[in-house]
Amino acid sequence: MDKSFDVVIVGGGVSGCALFWTLSEYTDIKSIAIVDKCADLAMISSNVRANSQTIHDGSIETNYTSQKAKKVKLSAQKVKNYALKHELQNKVIFKTQKMAIGVGDKECEFMRARHEEFLEVFPDMELFDKETIKQIEPSVILGSDGKSDRPENVVGSGYREAWCAMNFELLSKDFAERAQQNNPQNKVFLNFWVKEIKRNDDGYYLISRSGEAISAKFVLVNAGSYSLVLAQSMGYGLNLGCLPIAGSFYFVPDLLKGKVYMVQNPKLPFAAVHGDPDISSSGRTRIGPTAIAMPKLERGKHWYSGISTDLVKVDFHREIFGVLFDLLKDHEIRSYVFKNVIFELPYFGRRLFLKDAQKLIPSLKISDIEYAQGYGEVRPQVVDRTQKKLELGEKKIVTNKGITFNMTPSPGATSCLQNAFVDAQEISAYLNAKFDKERFLRDLSPEELEG
Ligand SMILES: Cc1cc2nc3c(=O)[nH]c(=O)nc-3n(C[C@H](O)[C@H](O)[C@H](O)COP(=O)(O)OP(=O)(O)OC[C@H]3O[C@@H](n4cnc5c(N)ncnc54)[C@H](O)[C@@H]3O)c2cc1C
Repeated sequence: MDKSFDVVIVGGGVSGCALFWTLSEYTDIKSIAIVDKCADLAMISSNVRANSQTIHDGSIETNYTSQKAKKVKLSAQKVKNYALKHELQNKVIFKTQKMAIGVGDKECEFMRARHEEFLEVFPDMELFDKETIKQIEPSVILGSDGKSDRPENVVGSGYREAWCAMNFELLSKDFAERAQQNNPQNKVFLNFWVKEIKRNDDGYYLISRSGEAISAKFVLVNAGSYSLVLAQSMGYGLNLGCLPIAGSFYFVPDLLKGKVYMVQNPKLPFAAVHGDPDISSSGRTRIGPTAIAMPKLERGKHWYSGISTDLVKVDFHREIFGVLFDLLKDHEIRSYVFKNVIFELPYFGRRLFLKDAQKLIPSLKISDIEYAQGYGEVRPQVVDRTQKKLELGEKKIVTNKGITFNMTPSPGATSCLQNAFVDAQEISAYLNAKFDKERFLRDLSPEELEG
């Protein structure tokens, strides 16, 4: 079989698969391949067990400003419209209630002010008082004795119903299937672990660990934590490092009717824990994710599997340790880091986590809580060595030489089609191909055409 393609995408998570479909549907590029080191697509961060299964549109994410919410909302509507257009309701996309809550007078005041401000972006969002929350999300109001109401005031802001839960693993597979149906020249190669990417006269050739080779005029690397490793092996992104932050979850019984998010401590770099009814495991609600730095690029089955020498190569620089040291100087961040380490420990973790989870569901008991073994993944947060700071969003290394590298820690699954939109423009311009931008936007984000 000919293994030469116009475009090869490295990484079959939701980012790679979204690009695979976008190129196949809206460009005239003749052959596209996607390669992944796993035996199936979407086995790492995009897997249904790995993430919080949320379409983050900014309405209830209290760590976003209204400016950021405006942007994220446009990304979110692309995945939502894709799923609705292809009739993936109750398979890939799910409707639930969702709200962010403030607990206690200070947080309630914050939530009211935030609600007013965010109405500009989400005009039909509702403000819920304690009595309304008691009716629509009773476990949030039921006190620790399981009989009376909790003593603090609670205010919520959100929606009684929204398409806001998504199985990003099945979404990835749907993208890949349609990309292959669109053109039989488009191929998926599994168990293809890219070890090396080399430049040649026509573009690049990629060599796998087992010695197979494949070539492309353009390579787009969407390999999660490994994107930076591959970039640095080719001399790109040498000013960057990676701080892998693992997130774990705890299961509780299905006490929540919808998604419940909490107010973010602005000092902490990662979002506060939230409650999400699990769409792949009925009868259970997930609370999390926690956040713990780990010397691993991917989680692996055991604590010791996947401890990465690649990561050592990427991170063994004075500036990276300097950034970590600066973060840890703040006592709130220090105690947050310490607490998250304890969350991972048997016996103690469950007990300490219970305290945080009771802010969400005060009547929870220790017997209700179970560590979600095998759930969660690593978010590869980028550290900029030149700026000496942790970058929380996504990162792209554009070389203008027919190869681009993406790192999409969070909320990368929600933004998969937005990122694909940006990459498709770059790839088509490079290959002199046509990209029907207008049809893409008409199908997935008509608001942007009107604007
Ligand atoms: C705990 C947690 C909760 C999250 N919750 C949400 C959420 O609710 N909503 C949301 O929008 N986002 C969420 N995110 C973020 C989201 O999961 C990721 O941003 C998204 O899945 C990234 O997709 P990706 O395709 O870029 O990476 P991945 O899904 O990790 O895919 C990368 C792929 O590259 C492959 N690969 C790597 N190296 C190689 C190589 N050398 N050769 C071949 N293949 C390779 C891997 O096998 C993998 O399949 C969460 C993340 C975590 C960790």
